Amino acid sequence: MKLAIEAPPLHTLPVSGIDLSFPVNRVYCVGRNYAAHAREMGKDPDRDPPFFFMKPAAAIVDASRPASVRYPSMTKDYQHEIELVVAIGKRGANIASADALDHVYGYAVGLDMTRRDLQLEARDKGRPWEFGKSFAHSAPIGAIHRATESGHLQTAAITLSVNGKLRQSSDIAKLIWSVSECIAYVSQYDALESGDVIMTGTPEGVGSVVAGDRLLGEIAGLSGIDVTIENASGTA
Ligand code: MN
Repeated sequence: MKLAIEAPPLHTLPVSGIDLSFPVNRVYCVGRNYAAHAREMGKDPDRDPPFFFMKPAAAIVDASRPASVRYPSMTKDYQHEIELVVAIGKRGANIASADALDHVYGYAVGLDMTRRDLQLEARDKGRPWEFGKSFAHSAPIGAIHRATESGHLQTAAITLSVNGKLRQSSDIAKLIWSVSECIAYVSQYDALESGDVIMTGTPEGVGSVVAGDRLLGEIAGLSGIDVTIENASGTA
């Protein structure tokens, strides 16, 4: 097949322990999935159904080794959200919660980087969140650990430090909507495809970063990430 224009790049993440890459399709993100974070955003942590937004595959940054991202344009409040990332390996629609983990290829540590001022302005005006959430390089993600090797994570410490200071510290056991429930829920609305990833939400402690900051994110049992914020011209 001859393409009319240059093909867009394929965005991939390395798989830990083997020389294969995981091709990223869509990036689903869950909003307010830890009670203490919902409270810090001024919302009640209830069990209303989960809600989702998306980032493009171009949001992915391979953070399986020390990585850097540029401070984005049009914001004065660029914030970190450390999250458990679920990589989908098998297509499915209307997936039962009991079968959901069969669709998981693996897990990784990721950052849902957010232009908080733009997100909150959109939220308060009832507008879409895209300019706050869905931009290039807004999702640095580490190596994917295969579920066949790591097992399915149910309990694990999740932390984020900035310049050596702990900012976020929780446990993925505190997810309001579990990985299985998120997969079951979102697959009612559209089939999940292999290559989709789900960012499962962030615990409390989100905050701003500036150029030169170094972010270390960890989830027990997975490879951590080490991300430096560069200034807009690309130098740290
Ligand atoms: Mn998030």
